[in-house]
Amino acid sequence: MRSTMQTTPLLLSRFLDYGATAYADSEVITWTADGPRRSTNAEVAADCKRLANALRSLGVTGDQRVGTFMWNNEEHLELYIGVPSMGAVLHTINIRLFPQQMIFTINHAEDYVVVVDNTLAEPFSKILAHAPTVKHVIVNGPVPEEVKAALAGDGAREVHDYRALLDAQPAEFEWPVLDENDGASMCYTSGTTGDPKGVVYSHRSNYLHTLQLAMPTALSLKQGDVVLTIVPLFHANSWGVAYAGFATGATLVLPDRFLQAAPLATMIEQLKVTNALAVPTIWNDLLHHLEAHPESDISTLKSAIVGGSACPPALMKAFQEKFDVTVYHGWGMTETSPLATVAVPPPGLEGQEYWDRRFMQGRLSMSVDARLVGPDGETLPNDGESVGEVEVRGPWITASYYNADAPEKFDDGWLRTGDVGKLTPDLFLTLTDRAKDVIKSGGEWISSVDLENQLMAHPAVREASVVGVPDEKWGERPLATVVLEEGSSVTTEELRDFLAERVARWQVPERWAFIAEVPKTSVGKFDKKVIRARYADGDLE
Ligand code: ADP
Repeated sequence: MRSTMQTTPLLLSRFLDYGATAYADSEVITWTADGPRRSTNAEVAADCKRLANALRSLGVTGDQRVGTFMWNNEEHLELYIGVPSMGAVLHTINIRLFPQQMIFTINHAEDYVVVVDNTLAEPFSKILAHAPTVKHVIVNGPVPEEVKAALAGDGAREVHDYRALLDAQPAEFEWPVLDENDGASMCYTSGTTGDPKGVVYSHRSNYLHTLQLAMPTALSLKQGDVVLTIVPLFHANSWGVAYAGFATGATLVLPDRFLQAAPLATMIEQLKVTNALAVPTIWNDLLHHLEAHPESDISTLKSAIVGGSACPPALMKAFQEKFDVTVYHGWGMTETSPLATVAVPPPGLEGQEYWDRRFMQGRLSMSVDARLVGPDGETLPNDGESVGEVEVRGPWITASYYNADAPEKFDDGWLRTGDVGKLTPDLFLTLTDRAKDVIKSGGEWISSVDLENQLMAHPAVREASVVGVPDEKWGERPLATVVLEEGSSVTTEELRDFLAERVARWQVPERWAFIAEVPKTSVGKFDKKVIRARYADGDLE
């Protein structure tokens, strides 16, 4: 029997219209050198319509790719919602990739238009010289004539001003009725191994993902919340918060290029932020800033999401105990839209039982299935102990990559995440490592993440990253690179003793390097490839 239900397609333009009507007065706030710049949802939506008219006038009539090379700001949000709504495909370019990788992604996606922030226009002009598909560059904000000329590249491209282009257009546009499975937006993985790979989100996948993100088992978003979106809009679909924030009427605070701890603390205090999303390194910097500036008042901030890499338990505990901020772990990847788990503990737990749940990566989202696969391809039980590679599937998990073959990433309809972990019977996931970072010592596995978490609980340690390095006797052994807290000192002997009380003795590293800063990837993760290359053979204490 067929249902009697209407088959309304799940399109992002529905969120746009709804957010602009139900929550017309909700705000989108961009941080600038002069403080906050405020607009309402209704104003943002009117700009989305002007933008759609403007892009049509430039020849965007179908599913052309519209790239963005931007910080988190109102205009980027307008593109986020407006471009898919008109039937084109948004490609958020990761501004922190190596130039060769950015060029690769722009050419691979065949971007036709790119919108660039004025503060990024000069470096972007150098990339454009290698991006022949780009015919229009729209600059957000004023730029000097010579930068404009560099962007135009001897007439290869037309250069426009974002505001002037929109102001010439009416704020009326009828959103087309699209197929909900059409591409809405695309993101490339950061390409730590090989070329970046493109993931194309559909209207339907983004729509369902947005609903999940707004639920109490994730961000619990609603009107009245003030959400500081520190995670870049170009990183993994902005963790979905661009759509979820707008459609639920939450106020979105967009920090633009002001991502240091001091301005972030000011934003939280001044704009009464209630919720924020960022990677662990940002939370770590913020914690240190707050400890050094007890006059900062972040008392409105109640809940936050940390993801992108494992968050050290010591960091979560410090935020809870010192500032009453619950920093929830979330896990996902570009390929999973990205929300796959959030660590909201079951009610009623206390003490260690409560914290054990908080430290896990979290409970699987309602529509995401996961299974653990052992070394011989066998499915392992969800018993909270068996450790295997995590494979996932569901309506917002990618089934392939855009114009690229990667059969090794898929297994009979499941996405192989490359993450290794365990699942409890009630679907809480704990990751022990990324498959490529697990240290194999004498036939046994050492979790690099576990050693890092333990080390970062030592009061003298600010950051620690552990990698496997070749060892004649054991095959591989851990090398710990450590950044000390300012003004602290500690010996390797002391750190070894500290670890020996917390992990099996044979796991304690013999190799140590005290370094000034842990090298990071374009999205703020420990760059273990660089750490191995730089410290494996030398620089040891
Ligand atoms: P890339 O793969 O390009 O680095 P992603 O942001 O898509 O970019 O990375 C996804 C990966 O990040 C996951 O596969 C996982 O290894 C790691 N990750 C994300 N969130 C967490 C988390 N909460 N805990 C541990 N690892 C995480």
